[in-house]
Amino acid sequence: MVDVLIPFRIGLTGGIGSGKSTVARLLVERGAALIDTDAIARALALPGGAAIEAIRLEFGASVIDPEGGLDRARMRELVFADANAKSRLEAILHPMIGLECNRQALEAAGKTTVFDVPLLVESSHWRTRVDRVLVIDCSNETQVARVMSRSGWSREAVLAVIGQQASRERRRACADAVIHNDGLTLDELAQQVDMLLARWAPVEQSRRSSGARPT
Ligand code: ADP
Repeated sequence: MVDVLIPFRIGLTGGIGSGKSTVARLLVERGAALIDTDAIARALALPGGAAIEAIRLEFGASVIDPEGGLDRARMRELVFADANAKSRLEAILHPMIGLECNRQALEAAGKTTVFDVPLLVESSHWRTRVDRVLVIDCSNETQVARVMSRSGWSREAVLAVIGQQASRERRRACADAVIHNDGLTLDELAQQVDMLLARWAPVEQSRRSSGARPT
């Protein structure tokens, strides 16, 4: 019989500016493998990306830019004009994202695997594919301040994105653990990550020894 080692899987999510990428980096520094679903989705629709031909067939050549990648501005117009366009695009991308996640998870070879999924809360699919959901949470004011300083966005632009994302309450309702990243220094944030990994260590161990989904 072949023993298949299924690693401990953490689904990581949080609103824009919550500190999700910072926590992802801290987890990688502590030995985890990171699977970034946003980066995978972007790569699929770049010139030469695996989704480009399917997108061209579904929506026509007008959504492909001169370099051969997805013309995101054109696609946004289509989605705005036709409510079905978003789900047609997702029907192409989601299975491919799933396959690439599986491929990268296999490559992670038994390490604790962190799936960075901005839309985890919006998708029932993800909740069943991870052992624990970690939500990074902070006040909207903190989100605004961080993204204005990190990315140079206007206050209105950040608030518009926050308005399109799941609410803090909805995100927290899906969480097995929440890190409140408000008023913490980076060192204190790192301590929170260490405490959480210590709390989950027995779960990780049981995952390793049984291969079953821990409760
Ligand atoms: P997200 O991935 O959730 O959009 P980031 O992890 O990129 O957010 O964090 C947004 C910005 O805030 C980054 O510049 C990051 O360095 C900073 N940041 C996040 N958490 C803290 C913290 N506890 N202390 C100081 N800066 C922080």
